[in-house]
Amino acid sequence: MPNIKLLQPSSLGEAVALLGSQNDETKIISGGTALVIMLKNRLVAPSTLVSLGRLAELRGIRHEPGTGLRIGALVTLRDAELSPIVRGNNPTLAETFAKVGNVRVRNAATVGGNLSEADYASDPPCVLVAMRARVKARSVRGEREIPLAELFKGFYETALAADEILTELIVPDLAPASRSAYLKYVSRSSEDRPCVGMAAVLETQADGTCKELRLVAGAVAEIPQEITAAEERAHGQRLTGPLIEEIAQAYADAIEPLSDLRGSAWYRKKIIQVLARRAMQQVSAVH
Ligand SMILES: Cc1cc2nc3c(=O)[nH]c(=O)nc-3n(C[C@H](O)[C@H](O)[C@H](O)COP(=O)(O)OP(=O)(O)OC[C@H]3O[C@@H](n4cnc5c(N)ncnc54)[C@H](O)[C@@H]3O)c2cc1C
Repeated sequence: MPNIKLLQPSSLGEAVALLGSQNDETKIISGGTALVIMLKNRLVAPSTLVSLGRLAELRGIRHEPGTGLRIGALVTLRDAELSPIVRGNNPTLAETFAKVGNVRVRNAATVGGNLSEADYASDPPCVLVAMRARVKARSVRGEREIPLAELFKGFYETALAADEILTELIVPDLAPASRSAYLKYVSRSSEDRPCVGMAAVLETQADGTCKELRLVAGAVAEIPQEITAAEERAHGQRLTGPLIEEIAQAYADAIEPLSDLRGSAWYRKKIIQVLARRAMQQVSAVH
């Protein structure tokens, strides 16, 4: 690898100012699990890296009533997975982080890095879109919030500007009468990235009918896929077998999956239908 300058700011203010004063050849590095592979393969060739590693202010996990979970961008996936605060308030999210790669990866990979990388074959993005999460981003121009559904723009492409730091993930509490699930299907090894991921959130009304269904497929296209017209078929209905089948079929019909080494488009369509059905069965089951 050619010589790369490494800058290690010790506060968020310093990091933001450094990024604001650099050129386009500067990249942020957090856990380095994705970036180092990209560097080695010469997919990126920055002249400068700004490491967020010393920014203790981005390492917090807390729960705020009315706001929900607030997870600092530098929290590792492993710490998020094991956090009693995450587990207590949103077990599905903790389980999702636990499904990423293996423990070695999760010990280094960060929540902010996972979302900023915007690799289509990732686990957390579809779950966080289904949970209507948002992120905070900081730059010399100030702070803004970006809903997860608007963060992902394409292959490895986000709405973040080159000098913007993703600082925090905010996951609102799910409504009391709701259930959630994330199903991950891998086609090669148990530690692999998903071939298809499926996140479901179901909010029910007092009479047991559906108030809102959110079903988001991951790893099947450039960005997470949510088919609103299919979700709306559930509104005001009980999620019975035939309705679940109808919605699962609608997802398989509407999504044009990509083909890669984890599965062809044809294969992914089949898996989308199966996982959509199973995810809806899981969130609608009475225990
Ligand atoms: C062997 C292996 C298996 C994996 N399996 C899975 C899997 O099953 N599921 C899955 O979801 N993921 C998987 N991953 C991907 C892994 O989750 C990501 O590599 C990791 O989350 C990236 O986080 P990081 O902190 O290491 O980011 P880095 O590698 O440091 O950065 C990644 C990208 O994000 C940018 N960036 C980092 N932090 C920020 C920030 N705070 N603000 C703005 N930009 C930022 C960097 O500039 C870079 O472009 C796997 C990775 C490996 C190596």
